[in-house]
Amino acid sequence: MRFGIVSDIHSNWQALQAVLADMPEVDEVICLGDVVGYGADPNRCVDLVREKGWPTLVGNHDRACTDVDILEWFNEDAARAIEWTVARLGADRLRWLSELPECDQIGDEIVLVHGSPRDHIYEYILDAATAEANLSLVEGQVCFHGHTHVPGIFRRESGQLLHEYQVGTFKLTGTELVNPGSVGQPRDGIPDASYAIWDRSAGTFEFRRVAYDREGAKRAIRSAKLPDRFAERLDSGR
Ligand code: ZN
Repeated sequence: MRFGIVSDIHSNWQALQAVLADMPEVDEVICLGDVVGYGADPNRCVDLVREKGWPTLVGNHDRACTDVDILEWFNEDAARAIEWTVARLGADRLRWLSELPECDQIGDEIVLVHGSPRDHIYEYILDAATAEANLSLVEGQVCFHGHTHVPGIFRRESGQLLHEYQVGTFKLTGTELVNPGSVGQPRDGIPDASYAIWDRSAGTFEFRRVAYDREGAKRAIRSAKLPDRFAERLDSGR
């Protein structure tokens, strides 16, 4: 079975459309959370994910839409984007967001979360100490996660922690933290939308990038009068 793995769409309709057009045929698509926040198209993005029936986890921005206490942790611009989003989503989409699960599994071998195995929604796996602590929680398993918007694989090899990334296919070997990157707001310095294909039977994970209509996404953010830096950072990929 082949799975499309997407995360951190962040209301970027143009990026989501490009990923869908680029994605080879798969049996199922899994979404690791943060469908909304930052971008200007929350409704179209939520509706597409729901219509496709993609199993979806809750991200911190999704949760902030339905829990005001969480919003207090957000910086001013991100909080403004959430308030703008909530004002547009409507009760039915908000209910869908509020019911998204925090974690899931595929068989015994794959753990699915937005943040990390230790802290399902909020922890960023960016540094070696955080990666090590979380690898110890998934011995023998692979964790697919998002949240950092930085694609890559954390794994150990001969006692060394490795963080690997390149567009292309990696063999999964077990005890790994694997991030497909962000569809709608990449932060690894490459502005193209990021996602992946997991081939369960072959045990491979393919990182893919696709250019999208960034001008359209930026225009939408600006005409919605969302904070301008959310438009600017689409070009820098930071
Ligand atoms: Zn995110």
